[in-house]
Amino acid sequence: MIQTIKGGVSDVGKFVQDQRKQGRSIGFVPTMGYLHQGHLSLIEASKRDGHCTVMSIFVNPTQFGPNEDFDAYPRDEARDLNLAEQAGADAVWFPTRGDLYPQGDDMRITPGEMGDCLCGISRPVFFSGILTVVMKLFHAVKPDCAYFGEKDFQQLTLIRRMTQLFFLDVRIVGCPTVREIDGLAMSSRNVRIPPDRRNDALGLFRTIQNARKAFLAGQKDPKTLRQHLLQRWPDGLDLDYLEFRDPQTLNEVTLLKPSTRIFIGAWLDGVRLIDNAEIGP
Ligand code: AMP
Repeated sequence: MIQTIKGGVSDVGKFVQDQRKQGRSIGFVPTMGYLHQGHLSLIEASKRDGHCTVMSIFVNPTQFGPNEDFDAYPRDEARDLNLAEQAGADAVWFPTRGDLYPQGDDMRITPGEMGDCLCGISRPVFFSGILTVVMKLFHAVKPDCAYFGEKDFQQLTLIRRMTQLFFLDVRIVGCPTVREIDGLAMSSRNVRIPPDRRNDALGLFRTIQNARKAFLAGQKDPKTLRQHLLQRWPDGLDLDYLEFRDPQTLNEVTLLKPSTRIFIGAWLDGVRLIDNAEIGP
């Protein structure tokens, strides 16, 4: 039976302590809810690793800018609890804003240079909000391992870096992007894509496929490949960025290698869409 934790930091702390007394290690899956198979794959990875698995569900206000979709972000606690239980989670924690920001949010982690590119340009408070809430969640849950999706590759890279630079005793596990059958990367925001615009939304995945094809055919120059891809960019999608970067440093590359990642950000009717993948086979 899944445990629902509705209290604050001390309540989740007590649950975790009880589990540790029974000799269990803790795997942690932080999310903003409205769960899909991408989120559930993180629970499954934690269970495969043998952990008592705690998921948190919290739509974190500090990572949304003033004109972003904090209010419109989809939420459904009952549905999420059911899905998390089916996937094998041991507990779901629903902290409130007051639990995580009892005295406001004037003190934050700043991401540094790695956060000043890709999503960080059009969303200037995004990564400081994420790193701050993840730091708080880590201190509350004190997990052995925490699971994050490669779908949000810049976020994953920044969290890895934060755990190193702040000597956090948690192992970060990156998990592959889960996609719909047609290739669209799963996202809670996909429910806000108008059904007749679905084909436009697939523009991100198609661009990734075209990039991989061109690379396989011998294209190694990022500038030329970018031009080639932009010529085929769908009219219905507002491009934010399309870049080729090193997977470790997130620096832009001058020569494409199989491990180079293509990163794409766009808006469709005001819905934020991102995707990324390795360019090589
Ligand atoms: P979110 O609820 O969007 O903040 O995401 C919570 C976690 O789920 C993050 O680690 C995301 O990277 C991960 N995630 C979201 N979508 C996917 C996906 N399609 N495949 C794998 N992981 C995902």
